[in-house]
Amino acid sequence: MKNTRKPIIDLSDCILCGVCVDVAPLVFRMNPSGYIEIVDLASYPETQIQEAIRNCPARCIGWET
Ligand code: SF4
Repeated sequence: MKNTRKPIIDLSDCILCGVCVDVAPLVFRMNPSGYIEIVDLASYPETQIQEAIRNCPARCIGWET
């Protein structure tokens, strides 16, 4: 089953460590302004994103509700 839930980042807590980009480079990227953004995808790889959520030191990644 495709996962259409989208991850979100609370940028006010993000410390730009790059862990999420390392863990799920197809989902998270640094934009030209120097902030992390979510790539627009039709569906999101749940396992990789859960891994990013677990490893984010600022605990600022979650799922859109
Ligand atoms: S892992 Fe968390 S703190 Fe690090 S860049 Fe990604 S969202 Fe920001």
